[in-house]
Amino acid sequence: MKVLKFGGTSVGNAERLKRVSTLLPKNEPCILVLSAMSGATDWLIEITELAQNKKMVDAIEKGKQLKDKHIKTANELFETKMYRKRGEEFVANIFHRIISKLVDSFDSDDSKGIVAMGEQLSVGLFHMLLTEQGKRATYLPALEYMRIDRESEPDLFYIEQNINRLLHSNPFSTIYVTEGFICRNAQGKIDNLGRGGSDYSAAIIGNVVNATEVQIWTDIDGVHNNDPRYVDNTTPLRSLSYDEAAELAYFGAKILHPQTIHPCRMKGIPVLLKNTLNPQDEGTLLTEKVRAKGIKAVAAKDGITAINIRSSRMLLAYGFLKRVFEVFDTYKTPVDMITTSEVSVSLTIDNNTHLNEIIQSISWFAQVEVERNQTIICVVGDFLATHKGYAARVLDCLREVPIRMISYGGSHNNITLLVDSHYKVQALSMLQHLFISNPIRPIANSIEV
Ligand code: ASP
Ligand code: MG
Repeated sequence: MKVLKFGGTSVGNAERLKRVSTLLPKNEPCILVLSAMSGATDWLIEITELAQNKKMVDAIEKGKQLKDKHIKTANELFETKMYRKRGEEFVANIFHRIISKLVDSFDSDDSKGIVAMGEQLSVGLFHMLLTEQGKRATYLPALEYMRIDRESEPDLFYIEQNINRLLHSNPFSTIYVTEGFICRNAQGKIDNLGRGGSDYSAAIIGNVVNATEVQIWTDIDGVHNNDPRYVDNTTPLRSLSYDEAAELAYFGAKILHPQTIHPCRMKGIPVLLKNTLNPQDEGTLLTEKVRAKGIKAVAAKDGITAINIRSSRMLLAYGFLKRVFEVFDTYKTPVDMITTSEVSVSLTIDNNTHLNEIIQSISWFAQVEVERNQTIICVVGDFLATHKGYAARVLDCLREVPIRMISYGGSHNNITLLVDSHYKVQALSMLQHLFISNPIRPIANSIEV
């Protein structure tokens, strides 16, 4: 069984949806995980926000616009009049449910139910398309098997039991279609896996069905060595290890939801990143193995806040760092980078929700300074301490850029730097020279795929 996930742009209009139907594996059963059509989730979130602010007329008007987009898609998608009618009825029915939720004493619990309808729409239409094409396809409703626990972690045992129950009750299908992103929570209410979470859904499904491969289809040829939005002449990478890909995804590469790697790594399932708009391209394969040496890729993550904590008396005294981290633990705020010196420790966070409380709590025992608008630059490659010179090359090529923090040695495969966001594009462009002057080389005996 293969699991294939198609993102919002891959299912963004009727023509794209038809194209997806041509990309299915020929000789192996598959589970297709779809995102909402591009923009639909943003739109649905806006509708719920308008409703929360009691702007019902605007919310309903926005709902109508989104309905029109889906009705248009339904009309262009199907060959036969009968299916066009079915498609229209299906879309109208979902929007009827949205409007009822808005007008019948809307409360915040209804929001996630409304947001979930983006995926229900794209999957419903696509399933109808496969049926019209005469393919034996079965719809697996994500809300019947995908569940998170009290810690918001996927409940793998529950998911495995329930998806297998659904698969076994339709054993003659070879194509199963399901929604990404949406799930139920520990209370049984409709919830989701966070923005961009369809990749994560596909990885979780891959894990519980022991997939032979998880494919993530987007609109770019795999992972690029630099950010194509800011730098010219970036090139796709053919292979990365799970660790390398996880660092890039976490520190800014937009191609993959950062949590996607873990469920696949647990079972050693290869993850293949492919381009719907250019399916001939081989894409990027993620596996356990490091298959090439050299400096491979760079990613940048904006919106970072640096917190500098100084304490001339206590810093390296036993227990000081524990006190610092207890504060971040209390406010459930993850720390990304950390560096220490004799008199101070600097760390970064990307979630400022509790910044004021964090500053206040630390101020009881140390001085705190905060710098906002910082960018993490993550360079992935093979930075084993025994490989001389790679770290020096990274720093040398950034000599014109003021570097605020450096984190090196935490793993063998990355150097992470912090710069003021103002210098991001300059830093990415300068690092592009590394890929030209240090081509990556396959490691002998491990280039087989
Ligand atoms: N539709 C959801 C979002 O826009 C999930 C996804 O696309 O992965 O965040
Ligand atoms: Mg995505």
